[in-house]
Amino acid sequence: MTERLGHFINGETRAPAGGTYFESTNPATLEVLYEAARGDAADVEAAVSSAKRAFKAPSWAGLTATQRGKLLRRLGDLIGQNAEELAHFESLDNGKLLREMRGQLATLPEYLYYYGGLADKVQGSQIPTNNLAVLNYTQREPLGVVGAITPWNSPLTLTTSKLAPALAAGNTIVIKPSEYTSRTILRFAELASEAGFPDGVVNVVTGLGAEAGSALVDHPDIAKISFTGSTATGSAIASKTAARFIGSTLELGGKSPNIVFDDANVENAAMGVIAGIYAAAGQTCIAGSRVFAQRGVYDELLERVADRARSIKIGDPLDAETELGPLAFGNQLEKVQYYVDLGVDEGATLFAGGKRPELELPGYFFSPTVLTDVNNDMRVVREEIFGPVAAIMPFDDEEEVVGLANDTEYGLAAGVWTRDLARAHRMSRRLEAGTVWINMYRAMSPMSPRQGFKNSGVGIEHGIESMHEYTRLKSVWINT
Ligand code: NAD
Repeated sequence: MTERLGHFINGETRAPAGGTYFESTNPATLEVLYEAARGDAADVEAAVSSAKRAFKAPSWAGLTATQRGKLLRRLGDLIGQNAEELAHFESLDNGKLLREMRGQLATLPEYLYYYGGLADKVQGSQIPTNNLAVLNYTQREPLGVVGAITPWNSPLTLTTSKLAPALAAGNTIVIKPSEYTSRTILRFAELASEAGFPDGVVNVVTGLGAEAGSALVDHPDIAKISFTGSTATGSAIASKTAARFIGSTLELGGKSPNIVFDDANVENAAMGVIAGIYAAAGQTCIAGSRVFAQRGVYDELLERVADRARSIKIGDPLDAETELGPLAFGNQLEKVQYYVDLGVDEGATLFAGGKRPELELPGYFFSPTVLTDVNNDMRVVREEIFGPVAAIMPFDDEEEVVGLANDTEYGLAAGVWTRDLARAHRMSRRLEAGTVWINMYRAMSPMSPRQGFKNSGVGIEHGIESMHEYTRLKSVWINT
């Protein structure tokens, strides 16, 4: 019989109130992996009320900041000790290479160590007002119960990016993971319990977005929603949180430019372009899906990227030799194929890839794809595909490429490849993106704040700034 996983509420595993479960499938083999609890409003109510009680309980509210930090660091240690199991489960669930998930798991403890170290630095300041008879200072307070809603592409990393700063600041949390990747988040919550977090501080309700996710956003006792996912869902959530005057941090979609100038090291740039769009089969928010190559390097860059696209080894993500795994689920495959066909209909040339490769595995695989003869008027260049599809375009000069790169509703990230230092600085100033990489792509650290510009998000994740997003600021005036 298929294994069944319950929610994690108030320190224990709970069967769903409605008694129903949904399947999670391995996207490479299409085998059913397990069934997860299909959460509804009653499950969300149980989780939020447990988190609300825990927020006020002496076992959590009575801890010193140092003690909170210690718990986070202990959780980091436990993640390290269980990294192999977690990486394996994550790869089975979302089809990303085991190698890549191992890499993510290797750095995940750093998030917990970093925010563990910040827990005792949640501080305000003394303000010199012009009233000399007054002492004015600010203090930062936790918000209460935070609702975290996360996607399937990097489940543990994206969940930890929310949980660690929220708990460091003294909040409690209810997590609704993606319906495609419930298992590792449930295991993560068990490890939090093992680390010593009191019951109710970390809760997980699994289920569908329109049911458990929506019920979490609608719950009146939620003080903030921290969401990572698509721009469409983020917009729906933002209209609800705005109407209730509660905060939200939204990490959304992207259509990031990766720009290669004539003077760049083309070999390195090609590798950066390839990793930028084909890593995780293009299913990353920061995917460098719009590649702009200056005329002098256009042909060489295109050949290098296309050669690699044609030779990438596609297969089982658990196999050490595999370089590209499947897309995470069936709709993803349909969506990617739809966009490639649409691009061709719009006048693009299919330079490499463009369809499901011939493989023995039955899963949702798609060949790395290169589209040329594309322009900014085409939907394939404007809309997020979330698959291994690069649109490669030539440009003449800096002025032109800044215009083209910024002509998008998104503003998540951008890459620039050049040996000209002054141009590198100029470009990073002029590009409308929350993260700009120069002669590199895809780097991330819990210490470095990141923010989506334009329709790519609201609010900041990572860095000390992120922890502040889980606090409210009080100004205290004392008549001396
Ligand atoms: P999605 O928006 O479909 O789902 C994200 C989460 O929201 C899931 O847990 C889902 O169940 C939940 N959800 C869906 N509808 C909901 C609703 N009405 N109310 C409440 N919750 C709801 O996104 P996805 O397909 O899981 O993830 C892919 C998207 O995430 C891409 O657009 C990608 O760019 C984005 N993403 C952004 C970042 C970033 O840091 N900016 C990182 C990773 C992924």
